[in-house]
Amino acid sequence: MKPDADAMGSSLALKSYLLQLGHQVTVISPTNWAGWVNWMNGSNEVIDFELKKQNAEEVLTKADWLFCLDFNNFSRTKSLATALASLSCTKILIDHHREPDEAAFDYGVSDVTKSSTCEMIYDFIIATNGSDKINETICECIYAGVVGDTGSFRFPITTDKVHLLVADLKSRGFSHEKVHDKLFDNFLENRLRFTGHVLLHRMEVFYEYNTVLIAIPKSDLLKYQIKTGDTEGLVNFPQSIQGIKLVALVIDRDEERKWSFRGKGEFDCNTFARKYFEGGGHYSAAGGRSSDSLEDTVKKFKTVLKENEALLQ
Ligand code: 5GP
Ligand code: MN
Repeated sequence: MKPDADAMGSSLALKSYLLQLGHQVTVISPTNWAGWVNWMNGSNEVIDFELKKQNAEEVLTKADWLFCLDFNNFSRTKSLATALASLSCTKILIDHHREPDEAAFDYGVSDVTKSSTCEMIYDFIIATNGSDKINETICECIYAGVVGDTGSFRFPITTDKVHLLVADLKSRGFSHEKVHDKLFDNFLENRLRFTGHVLLHRMEVFYEYNTVLIAIPKSDLLKYQIKTGDTEGLVNFPQSIQGIKLVALVIDRDEERKWSFRGKGEFDCNTFARKYFEGGGHYSAAGGRSSDSLEDTVKKFKTVLKENEALLQ
């Protein structure tokens, strides 16, 4: 759903690699995606399943291999899930989230110690002796996913291997500035104004729980003409407040209330999201959902915050 830089970057990097090996490759996304990944080479050929269902189904029925990147459970692809489950082709998982649905895949690598699926695609290319096939597209896509999922190299998941990967890309002549520019300095004025509005009017700080909550009503999204991807990164701002251990962001989307959680130190966001908000993800970054109204899901959050008080001290 709504592929981010890692999901799109890993898919397009793998596509470029497999094309060079002589395969026919199509990338399918379950939904649309943020405009800020449209600079990636090959993104204009990605099939949006919600827009072009028939096209996607034709490709899927012809496929010999299905690579599932940056998700580990078909249910994460929403309306695409039934089509994926019914395929008889070989299904391969490459992913770094917790608790994969192992039974759904024939082969795969699931490794929560990896910073990003892009890092895993890089490992895959190196492990299959494809080093000479790492071209500009692959460098840009892999770097974008690594930057996205490590919070620009700040999250604890940023290992020595991540820096060695970047060093390797740089040694091939790759310039990283373009990627930063495309990912972070590529928005309209209204998105920055929206961020200001939200931080001023929609943010609550609960110092007794070292927690920040941001709840965004639909009216804000409409007023500032917020598009897919414009809210990415918003959840990271409150982490700059001293002592904060959990940031929770909930957005009133049309079909559901979508939660994002970011933790620092010992707080396990994956377990929290799974237990209370039908979600999951990583230890320090997870997401969830609710069918309740914005008001009710916020009320629930405040109740479960009390239950988790001990974990947030
Ligand atoms: P974000 O807050 O950026 O949307 O998501 C943070 C991480 O949690 C991402 O790696 C994402 O794949 C995962 N995630 C987000 N929402 C959900 C969800 O509803 N279920 C599960 N299992 N993972 C989620
Ligand atoms: Mn990822």
